[in-house]
Amino acid sequence: MTESLVTVAYIGATILFILSLGGLSHPESARRGNLFGIIGMTIAVLATVFGPRVTPAGWSWIVGALVVGGAIGLYAARTVKMTQMPELVALMHSLVGLAACLVGFASYVDTSTVFPTAAEKAIHEVEIYVGILIGAITFSGSLIAFGKLSGKIGGKPLLLPARHWINLLGLLVVIWFGREFLRAEGIAAGMTPLIVMTVVALLFGIHMVMAIGGADMPVVVSMLNSYSGWAAAATGFMLSNDLLIVTGALVGSSGAILSYIMCRAMNRNFISVIAGGFGSGGGAPAASSGAAAQPAGEVVAVSAADTAEQLREAKNVIIVPGYGMAVAQAQHTVFEITKLLREKGVNVRFGIHPVAGRMPGHMNVLLAEAKVPYDVVLEMDEINGDFPDTDVAMVIGANDIVNPAAQDDPTSPIAGMPVLEVWKARTSIVMKRSMASGYAGVDNPLFYKDNNRMLFGDAKKMLDEVLAALRA
Ligand code: NDP
Repeated sequence: MTESLVTVAYIGATILFILSLGGLSHPESARRGNLFGIIGMTIAVLATVFGPRVTPAGWSWIVGALVVGGAIGLYAARTVKMTQMPELVALMHSLVGLAACLVGFASYVDTSTVFPTAAEKAIHEVEIYVGILIGAITFSGSLIAFGKLSGKIGGKPLLLPARHWINLLGLLVVIWFGREFLRAEGIAAGMTPLIVMTVVALLFGIHMVMAIGGADMPVVVSMLNSYSGWAAAATGFMLSNDLLIVTGALVGSSGAILSYIMCRAMNRNFISVIAGGFGSGGGAPAASSGAAAQPAGEVVAVSAADTAEQLREAKNVIIVPGYGMAVAQAQHTVFEITKLLREKGVNVRFGIHPVAGRMPGHMNVLLAEAKVPYDVVLEMDEINGDFPDTDVAMVIGANDIVNPAAQDDPTSPIAGMPVLEVWKARTSIVMKRSMASGYAGVDNPLFYKDNNRMLFGDAKKMLDEVLAALRA
């Protein structure tokens, strides 16, 4: 393939990536968006492999890497459960960061490129330094995020004394060694500042994510998504690959927009999230997820038959799904119940919190998979005002996103986070297995309200029973 043909292929791939992002902005067009992305990526890989910069001697390496990487990807895609997706995505982000670091070191020791001027050499070295810096932060930060999302590391924030000073010191060290790196004569001399900076960046990535607790993880996940994009763009600069620069910038900026949306959804300030430890500020530190909540009153349990009865008699029902629906894989039964009730003339709608589940859009994906019509699936802001006119608010495996303490208790770790106001409905029914807390590890006063009922049990099993009772 000639250079000009590769350029045309790269432009085509770029357009497909932009169309892909556009498609992913709505569940209805997401499938098509994915398809555009797959085609764009195939064109990009083929144009790169058969382009003039890869000699046939390198093909065996590339084919080998493609087979190994493709096999791991295929295995992961087939075996990873939907609830493990966020962890998988975090691991993938870490690989992008690792790749940026490795390409950075390889570019530095590669002496085959001759730079005509000192300025061009300096620019290349700045690209290497910044690329490795972003890559290392992304790599270690994403690994910690993986640990936190999979429960291997506790959700409690690690708040070191003087942590902001530690971060500032790290930044100064990175700037100082950057100067040393640019002034170094020869590869051996430049290697020391490069390695010191890499170690500092790895430690910063660990510290940054360890300091973020409980309910703030969604912002971290989207932020690391953005970092992985900038790491890829930095790799593109190092390799002088325009497509990688554009693709990285697309991922980086879309991730940044997502982080902004997540921050707004959680009523958080982006800077204070990445500075760490916020959300635990004046409040009690969050217990690890799943811990038993402190009892704060009596709860009233109901049976599946009672729940069916209440639903049958209701005019307006709002269903609020959360992480537990994903764990139980209850979305198909939810759809069956929705269909049945709507046929009986009950107005059933869904209220989706922006951070419900464990990844952005988690609930929308599950409901779309179960073929729930999009027009009854509403965002939190669209539906929150309707709870006072609602007969039954049915909460399926959700906890933090319906916690009134976010509004009432300024010392709560989730204080200030907007929540779905299910307690304003005539009756709220919470479906979960026990009194355990959610991801943020905080007790939920909703459970003890007079108009709240608890339907204890696995969401799928309980909903199957509700469905059977409705059909009876
Ligand atoms: P939560 O984690 O707050 O609560 C989920 C509840 O589901 C648990 O209390 C659990 O209670 C219940 N549950 C678990 N398994 C089952 C089951 N099989 N059947 C029935 N219930 C079950 O989830 P929410 O969706 O309410 O809130 C999301 C939380 O995750 C927020 O804190 C958010 O910040 C955080 N987060 C979100 C991310 C995102 O991008 N969306 C990313 C990272 C974190 P029990 O054990 O008693 O059954």
